[in-house]
Amino acid sequence: MSVAIPTSVGEVVDLLSRNPQATLLAGGTDLMVEVNLHGRRPADVVALNRVSELRSWSVDSSRRTITIGSGVPYAEMETGELARLLPALAEAARTVGSPQIRAAGTLGGNLGTCSPAGDGLPVLAALDAVIDVVGPNGARQIRFADFMVGVKRNALQPSEFVRSVTLPLVEGWQGYAKVGTRNAMVIATASVCLVRTNDRVAVALGAVGPTIIRATDAETWLAANHTMSSRPNTDTLAEFARLVRDASRPIDDHRSTAAYRRHAVGVLAQRLLTRSYS
Ligand SMILES: Cc1cc2nc3c(=O)[nH]c(=O)nc-3n(C[C@H](O)[C@H](O)[C@H](O)COP(=O)(O)OP(=O)(O)OC[C@H]3O[C@@H](n4cnc5c(N)ncnc54)[C@H](O)[C@@H]3O)c2cc1C
Repeated sequence: MSVAIPTSVGEVVDLLSRNPQATLLAGGTDLMVEVNLHGRRPADVVALNRVSELRSWSVDSSRRTITIGSGVPYAEMETGELARLLPALAEAARTVGSPQIRAAGTLGGNLGTCSPAGDGLPVLAALDAVIDVVGPNGARQIRFADFMVGVKRNALQPSEFVRSVTLPLVEGWQGYAKVGTRNAMVIATASVCLVRTNDRVAVALGAVGPTIIRATDAETWLAANHTMSSRPNTDTLAEFARLVRDASRPIDDHRSTAAYRRHAVGVLAQRLLTRSYS
């Protein structure tokens, strides 16, 4: 296979415009599994790791947003300033694979693969992230809700790639939790990101449907029936968990049963809501 190693976003755009079939390589933690275990044979590869713009992040204080380059590895999100600004993303990053996987794996790759079990994705959903996409016709911004269109399917057009992700810096609490078949190095069988602000919660569910699911009925019910400044009582928590469970659309597969997944997202959401008041 041929491997191109561009050093700028413009060069990546040129390479993909000339060859829309080329395969992007970021950390390679998904792609190389495809190559080594599933017989994928990309003819032309465009490696992104020398494009420094994709490996940086910045804060816009006036807009109260943070923009993270698609090539920033999880290891950089786990601790330090990024973790302080986006605690839910840090929690999600810490659950990804092993230190080696987190040193190489990126949000751009999570979005490229677009698995419903991707750990970065519920965080992007709960925070209403906007995905900055670049292609031969310039840049466009896609809301996360419109980006993921099915199991391992996204809204990228041929020759387009993810440049960065922009998230709001919210006042409030945010957290991420997942369950899997063991405690570490595990793909989620169910995951939840919860963000609580003054007047509402946002809840996004992973691995319980073809895409990441926002539990909007649970969000709306809680906003209407609970004063966010006070600790929820047992009945409120139970109803909230029930509505979260109802939002899920899980399946039985080799990792878990639909029934367990449905139960698990209710428990995780209830725990996160409780934790947000501790
Ligand atoms: C042992 C192991 C454990 C893992 N554990 C977890 C886990 O716990 N949680 C989890 O979520 N994932 C896990 N993964 C999967 C993987 O690490 C993540 O999905 C990671 O985010 C992929 O990022 P990457 O940079 O390595 O992507 P790559 O493998 O380089 O690329 C993945 C796909 O995205 C495309 N792509 C890459 N960059 C872009 C871009 N900028 N724009 C558009 N498309 C792009 C590629 O062409 C490819 O199709 C694991 C993988 C392994 C091997």
